[in-house]
Amino acid sequence: MVVGLGPGDRNCFTPEALAAIAAAQVVVGYHTYLDLIPDLLQGKQVVATPMRGEVERARQAVELAAAGKTVAVVSSGDPGIYGMAGLIIEAAGGRVPVRIIPGITAASAAAASLGAPLMNDFAVISLSDLLTPWETMLRRLEAAAAGDFVVVLYNPRSHGRPDHIKTARQIMLKYKPPATPVGIVRQARRGQEQKILTTLGEMLNHEIDMLTTVVIGNAQTSIQGDYMVTARGYKW
Ligand code: SAH
Repeated sequence: MVVGLGPGDRNCFTPEALAAIAAAQVVVGYHTYLDLIPDLLQGKQVVATPMRGEVERARQAVELAAAGKTVAVVSSGDPGIYGMAGLIIEAAGGRVPVRIIPGITAASAAAASLGAPLMNDFAVISLSDLLTPWETMLRRLEAAAAGDFVVVLYNPRSHGRPDHIKTARQIMLKYKPPATPVGIVRQARRGQEQKILTTLGEMLNHEIDMLTTVVIGNAQTSIQGDYMVTARGYKW
């Protein structure tokens, strides 16, 4: 099983995710995610892996499952969105069945904190170039901006590449005016949540790090009081 833990807070875990962990004999995941659930791990075999150890973790999980164990691989947010789901299916190669248990992804959690910015078509783009070539990312940013999508940026400040967010903003500014609303949410649904409503022109004046999701509006997005809202087109 590949289990999505949601953005962090326990009340954002789905009952299905909790049941899957309870049913598992072995729980596999990053230290950071396992640290969120120490009470759920009692009496279980725990395989904690460091960051960037995804392929090894996937292999280990599949070996354990092939040996007859019930294994839960935990992943933050939704495991099928920049998570472990695809890797586990590939590693399993049909040898063991894989069940994916969805979770609340950062885009949903951040959007709920901001108001309703994802009411119409949106694109999610990760600014991490560890696995996606930079040229591909530039092409996708350009296409999303040209298509007037609301753009959600994951991994907005890549390790060692602080300038990606600046480049992304420059591309957005080719198509979107500087007054376009931007929402920045740090640690959404994690107890220490911070949210900022700003604009495309001003967004870089605020702290943006790896624990942040950035939502850039489209031509229908406005700020209504404390909320960022993308109109869906209903007539009043
Ligand atoms: N599978 C995860 C995403 C992993 S990519 C999911 O579905 O949410 C990691 C990126 O997700 C982070 O760099 C950040 O941009 C975003 N993210 C994850 N949790 C977050 C949270 N609680 N608040 C804000 N952003 C978050």
